[in-house]
Amino acid sequence: MCGLFGIYGHDEAANLAYLGLHALQHRGQESAGITTSDGGRLHRHVAMGLVSERFSKETLSGLPGRAAIGHVRYSTSGSSELRNAQPFVFEYAHGGLAIAHNGNIVNAAEIRSRLERQGSIFQTSSDTEVIVHLLAQQREPDLLDRLTAALRQVQGAYSLLLLSEGKLIAARDPHGFRPLVLGRLRDSYVFASETCCFDLIEAEFIREIDPGEVVVADRVAVRSFRPFEPAPPRFCIFEHVYFARPDSFLNGRSVYRARERMGRRLAVEHPAPADVVVPVPDSGVPAAIGYSRESGIPLEMGLIRSHYVGRTFIEPQDSIRHFGVRLKLSPVRSVVDGKRLVVIDDSLVRGTTSRKIVTMLRGAGAAEVHLRISAPPTTHPCYYGIDTPTREELIASSHTGDEIRSYIGCDSLAYLSHEGMVGATSSPSGGAAEADRDAAGYCSACFTGAYPVPAGQPAEASSLVPLRRLRQ
Ligand code: SF4
Repeated sequence: MCGLFGIYGHDEAANLAYLGLHALQHRGQESAGITTSDGGRLHRHVAMGLVSERFSKETLSGLPGRAAIGHVRYSTSGSSELRNAQPFVFEYAHGGLAIAHNGNIVNAAEIRSRLERQGSIFQTSSDTEVIVHLLAQQREPDLLDRLTAALRQVQGAYSLLLLSEGKLIAARDPHGFRPLVLGRLRDSYVFASETCCFDLIEAEFIREIDPGEVVVADRVAVRSFRPFEPAPPRFCIFEHVYFARPDSFLNGRSVYRARERMGRRLAVEHPAPADVVVPVPDSGVPAAIGYSRESGIPLEMGLIRSHYVGRTFIEPQDSIRHFGVRLKLSPVRSVVDGKRLVVIDDSLVRGTTSRKIVTMLRGAGAAEVHLRISAPPTTHPCYYGIDTPTREELIASSHTGDEIRSYIGCDSLAYLSHEGMVGATSSPSGGAAEADRDAAGYCSACFTGAYPVPAGQPAEASSLVPLRRLRQ
């Protein structure tokens, strides 16, 4: 869960990187950083916190040069502290190099332990540093060759941006788990996790970086290389379900339209006897619009989200813990009082937030609450860069639908099917053959347990936490 932005060949590289990261802030709020190259030296500023809070006119003016890479971070590997803030910058035999990474290297611990036995000293606890050490060990004279030799040793998910004094390199792992797109802003080239930042800086979208592709931008040209053995594409379907911004296009699809179609299919698969469709804002809104259109039940904003609350990582003491969700969401009594609601959310992970929402809506007078989830049950953790909890904490991994409904306290609970989710991310005009091809092109391991790249052993059912602990 991180966001990347890069630009090559623009006089305002640092300012544009700042704007690009701003549009990617939803992908990570723990730290933000920009590194620029002035052609002879790299310049870096990283800080904990939000882009708008941690960059000023002064910090940006201290980042000269016509090329920049930037990163917003939400830690999935390595702890949340400044030493893990990216881009990392290091000096080695060939000069300076900066790296920014979105994804998760599943064999990082194994490689790190081997490198440490050989004498490497790591500065951070991030899996990204493994790539840095591997790259520095390579003997090839060209940076691209050193990078590909390093990447051949890692497994898992990576979309990467690297910046040397004279080159910007973008790389995507052979399965293409995490997104990476290429665009143009007049004579300069831009790279980003999502297309939404191109809209902000008025850059033109060119295309996605393909799985397994490496793109090099330098003074000569922009060139594409495919140095890895081809692998089946496995784009993360959770980007479409929840993670990406709805105004982005990913994997050739509008995120907004995919979510709206998920809502339409949910209405067909699981109708509800309700007077009003209520989205859980913000990510549940497009699916709720689809559910409302398909079912004919009017949509109303029965929950309002506060946009001035940060993530409630620390919910202080048990006695006031329940205020956490109320800080973010409030029920609208005039909408919900006396009504039968069908509440649309994009995912159900631990179940604790849904439980609080249902309690809140009943407290505001809702006559019935029918919960509909626009994705299948999340039963397995992600090893490829999305911060899902452990399997023990995923309520659907160890409890029946009725146990979960009873825990949440809703009148009925239903999920979109796997076929429905994949079908919604396919072209609306596509037939069954296209839907099958699309299903094969996605990773949906957190819903199925079918991991495309082996990574750890999922917990056995007997070791899962009983429901009563989740109720605490
Ligand atoms: Fe995405 Fe889930 Fe696959 Fe992780 S396991 S990459 S969240 S679909």
